[in-house]
Amino acid sequence: MDLRFSDADEAFRAEARAWLADHLAGPFAALRDRGGPGDEHAFVEERRAWERHLGAAGWIGLGWPRALGGRELPLLQQVIWHEEYARAGGPGRLGHIGEGLLGPTLIAFGSDAQKRRFLPPILRGEEIWCQGYSEPNAGSDLANVQTRARLEGGAWVIEGQKVWTSWAQWADWCFVLARTEPDSQRHRGLSYLLVPMRQPGVEVRPIVQITGDSAFSEVFFDGARTDAANVVGAPGDGWKVAMGTLAFERGASTLGQQLQFENELREIVAAARASGADRDPEIRQRIAHAWSGLRIQRWNALRMLARADRPELAPEAMITKLFWATWHRALGELAMDVLGPEAEIAAGAPYELTRLQRLFLFSRADTLYAGSNQIQRNLIAQRALGLPREPR
Ligand SMILES: Cc1cc2nc3c(=O)[nH]c(=O)nc-3n(C[C@H](O)[C@H](O)[C@H](O)COP(=O)(O)OP(=O)(O)OC[C@H]3O[C@@H](n4cnc5c(N)ncnc54)[C@H](O)[C@@H]3O)c2cc1C
Repeated sequence: MDLRFSDADEAFRAEARAWLADHLAGPFAALRDRGGPGDEHAFVEERRAWERHLGAAGWIGLGWPRALGGRELPLLQQVIWHEEYARAGGPGRLGHIGEGLLGPTLIAFGSDAQKRRFLPPILRGEEIWCQGYSEPNAGSDLANVQTRARLEGGAWVIEGQKVWTSWAQWADWCFVLARTEPDSQRHRGLSYLLVPMRQPGVEVRPIVQITGDSAFSEVFFDGARTDAANVVGAPGDGWKVAMGTLAFERGASTLGQQLQFENELREIVAAARASGADRDPEIRQRIAHAWSGLRIQRWNALRMLARADRPELAPEAMITKLFWATWHRALGELAMDVLGPEAEIAAGAPYELTRLQRLFLFSRADTLYAGSNQIQRNLIAQRALGLPREPR
């Protein structure tokens, strides 16, 4: 297993680093380190413009096939891009769900017409997407989806409710998992629909989170419509497509996220030095432990990369989400203990939080979204260790 970067990889890293240094400047300078988890409300319009800027310069769809407008770069270079983006303090990506989840899903399962219609605006950073899976009674148990859709006059008509839909209030489109066969059960009879968000039958009610932000919403569909052709895969076969999307969720972008975590740890170490907490033996041990956890994540990511073209399918991928989510939540707790009593005081009225406070509050969600820790453990038990299925 060769884990060294080639000269071409290093040249690509230098190109990415230089572009980010040049372009996170001028009107975009204020976006550095903004708009990430717990801070999604910051600079939304400016971040839309940033998406278009990235698209125009060819930094979206790095791994997509050239025939579909991408750059077809090797996976390692895609990871390098994500690393450099995090290192430069690149702003939270409004286009992440389109580029990271829907795009790869359409490339794998979409019709030619769907690829022609939906991929180019994602590549140009023009259309923002959200993910309409979870419902009040269908989170971990996603197969319990109750949102329904029926074909009527050349269109799907959708009724039901989604919840926790990230960026719904800013999104142009949503991919919605809906039951299209009325008497179907569980994962059968579901379809994967592409639904425009800006129409009378869609109501978005933002949910205020503990960070003070409202990055996710309840979404109500009451006679919302989408063209009959906007179903990905065969009608009734949406479960397969939906599971494909979830696999992409663990793709290249998460492999580069340790650089963002490293920035956070560096900030915690600086805070410990400033407050004198770095003289506390327990805090020192926890900082060292956090540092080791970062190295473990890095080596595990490289191990996955060395094994497969599709790292999300490598056996090592099974432990990745559980490990980073648990590690990151502990990092948030460490940040608060380093700050001491000061951690409990908002930086400004009414509820202005520092980056470390947001880190602590948002990281409570890490062990829930994209598969909770308990669900990850069930998956590891069944798929990696071959233990019996959980009884229902
Ligand atoms: C920040 C954030 C952003 C999100 N964004 C989106 C989005 O854009 N689109 C979208 O569709 N969804 C989104 N979600 C929803 C996310 O996918 C769900 O929160 C997740 O699937 C868990 O579902 P739930 O919240 O309904 O919890 P539940 O499934 O009700 O689980 C509650 C608790 O019970 C445990 N539990 C459940 N089943 C089992 C079991 N079988 N064995 C052991 N323990 C179990 C869980 O681990 C959890 O601790 C987001 C969530 C968060 C926190």
